[in-house]
Amino acid sequence: MLQQRYDREIEKKWQKTWEEEGTDRFDENDTVRPIFSIDTPPPFTSGELHMGHVLSYSFIDFVARYKRMNGFNVYYPQGWDTQGFPTEVKVEKKFGKLPPVEFRARCIEWTLEFIERMRTQMKEMGFSPDWRYEYRTMDPEYHRKVQLSLIKMYADKLIYMSKYPVYWCPKCISAIAKAELDEVEKDGTLIYIKFKGPAGEDLIVATSRPELLHACVAVLFNPTDERYKGLEGARITTPLGKEVQAISDKEVDKEFGTGLVMLCTFGDKMDVVWMHRYKLPMIEGIDRYGKLKEAGEFTGKKVEEAKKLIIEKLEREGKVVKKEPLKQTIKVHDRCNTAVELISSLQWFADIRSTGKLIKDMAHKITWIPEFGISYLIDWVESAEWDWVISRQRIFGTPLPFYYCEKCLGTAAADESGLPFYPEKAKPKTCPKCNSQMKPETSTCDVWVDSSITPLIISGWPDDQKRMERLYPASLRPQGVEIVRTWAFYTIYRSGVALTGMAPWNEILLNGNVLAPDGKKMSKSLGNIISPAELQKDYPTDAIRQWAAMSGAMARDRPFSFEDIKYSKSFISKVWNAARFIEPLRKDFPEEPELTLIDRWIIGRLNTTIKECTAHMEAYEYHEMVKKMHAFFWHDFCDNYLEFVKHRVYGEGPTKEAALYALNKVLLDSVKLLSPITPHLSEEIYRGMYGKAQSVHRAQWPEGGDEHKDAVDKVLVLNEIVSQLRQHKAKNKLAQNAELEEVRISNPTPIEPELLEELKRISKIKKIDAISGEFAVSPL
Ligand SMILES: [Zn+2]
Ligand SMILES: [Zn+2]
Repeated sequence: MLQQRYDREIEKKWQKTWEEEGTDRFDENDTVRPIFSIDTPPPFTSGELHMGHVLSYSFIDFVARYKRMNGFNVYYPQGWDTQGFPTEVKVEKKFGKLPPVEFRARCIEWTLEFIERMRTQMKEMGFSPDWRYEYRTMDPEYHRKVQLSLIKMYADKLIYMSKYPVYWCPKCISAIAKAELDEVEKDGTLIYIKFKGPAGEDLIVATSRPELLHACVAVLFNPTDERYKGLEGARITTPLGKEVQAISDKEVDKEFGTGLVMLCTFGDKMDVVWMHRYKLPMIEGIDRYGKLKEAGEFTGKKVEEAKKLIIEKLEREGKVVKKEPLKQTIKVHDRCNTAVELISSLQWFADIRSTGKLIKDMAHKITWIPEFGISYLIDWVESAEWDWVISRQRIFGTPLPFYYCEKCLGTAAADESGLPFYPEKAKPKTCPKCNSQMKPETSTCDVWVDSSITPLIISGWPDDQKRMERLYPASLRPQGVEIVRTWAFYTIYRSGVALTGMAPWNEILLNGNVLAPDGKKMSKSLGNIISPAELQKDYPTDAIRQWAAMSGAMARDRPFSFEDIKYSKSFISKVWNAARFIEPLRKDFPEEPELTLIDRWIIGRLNTTIKECTAHMEAYEYHEMVKKMHAFFWHDFCDNYLEFVKHRVYGEGPTKEAALYALNKVLLDSVKLLSPITPHLSEEIYRGMYGKAQSVHRAQWPEGGDEHKDAVDKVLVLNEIVSQLRQHKAKNKLAQNAELEEVRISNPTPIEPELLEELKRISKIKKIDAISGEFAVSPL
């Protein structure tokens, strides 16, 4: 017997059963069913699921469960993105500074504990990956594969070491990639400073970064700027007494400041471009810690402090003409919000500029859902000016498997046979160019280097060629829209262009993010976070999953809605109560009995709903799918059909069997349709109540038969009349089962006598006058 209320105990029971029975497993030996494989995102091991995870992993689970019911052998592995800066920060906070090997061991311990917690939460959400295929990016085996992929790219000249300006976070003391930058608005100051022209005249230069004066290598102006005609090539003296050259360049903005630009090698990205264009000397004005370098009395001062001191000094010397407030957009590191600097250092790069066209071509071979998602990738490729900095000066990461020579900057790859490579255990190597002893690289990889080969990792690359043939490319990559320019881009580049020459997936499905109910980004500081663990206290898992489905529209952010989740919970109660009503009437029908008009209507509506839901599931439109189910099950089935047939199922009339057939058919097909979204509820009804031998998740997805359009059209009128009479009774404070003496119904076409009889019973009418005319219902 179904218990009185649906609750989480039921969900826990089925989770345990599924795990014991291996309901969701991939069958390695099945060569008959087609494979559907999912390149599931490995979440960063933060120790806790957030609503964004719940949303995106629910979508993935809907796909997997739906495909299983459609005859696919679903391969749904789950990995963990374990390494990186946030863990280092937490471990360092707890254990302090430790030698690298020990520090890494602590990070691993910490991460294992976090994985355990997240795995438990995922199981509680009813997610159904095949846990036998778990991978962790921190495992030596994963390191080996990442390193091998890098050595292959190095051999193909796609990876190189170079001294080059990189975005640098002075707080994390590490190079970071362009994709890790955020932009923030800041109130700055534009300060107008006196330089001296060739004849000793004042030349006023406006700058927001006076602290970089010591690194000034040129003054630029626009060739069409009348104010500076004849200045080309002139010697200009900076306020610090250094002589630099005046150069004209079309890209100088005449409108900004005085139209003169002070070029410091690393002031911003444009400076770097000009430095290369005019082969200007490279001066490193700022060091790795964000302190001034070779800046006389200001050497060793942090940027902000140096800025203040320099302005004071220039003001004292009468070299400041004026100061203006300036709205600036500055670049910060997305993880720590620190303003980044450009500094020059030896780093490892992956060539993404010369491969841009190949990446774009490959992206076009993949089906993007929604279609516009590809534009994020194309725009990103087209704006790529620099190669991808893949080295990070961190500890908890995959070591770069390379050596370099301090003398001549020659490089070499580690031996493939000795992988995984760890610098502290590296074999000595001599420089192929100058024969001196080389140093093993101690930098680690950008974490996107790890995660950009997940489609290869899950397919058995590089050791199991047979498995690769079955599982690569993956059928689907589901991921967040905000990481198209990182995860999708790097994966197409590495797994596709660089390593296999084949697109890594057939389809990519993009989801948006969950915002706070107020429409803002959820954040600790705003105190607007909604946690899945909190929600689970008040809502069953299936209600939360259904909320995810309702949050629909792909690739768009959506505020969390309490209204949706409450609605979702009520819908589950509705299904539950309908099942409890049908439970004593449950019955198997080998064949369809002869149906009445009203039965044909509900079966017709069921079949239409099946067809629509199937199309929506195929198109990953879960919000549309649940909307159709709500309309059909709640409105047509519970509000109307159940009420219409009560007298038939409790009586012994000739149409009783037909009503029982329709009730059972609608309920069973509906729980199948709902099972990807509400797997526990469906299972409890299908297996618990009907006592089916197999899980609903092993059942065949329903096929929609006859839509009985004629019956549906006719019964629409009946529904409308019943609804109006319900309103009439409510308005006149009559009980719903109160008898009505006489009702006049006019309709353009005659209403079937069978329906008029039904109507009398449903609405308790003694006498009906059916007349021809415009549609109207008039109780007399
Ligand atoms: Zn940082
Ligand atoms: Zn050398």
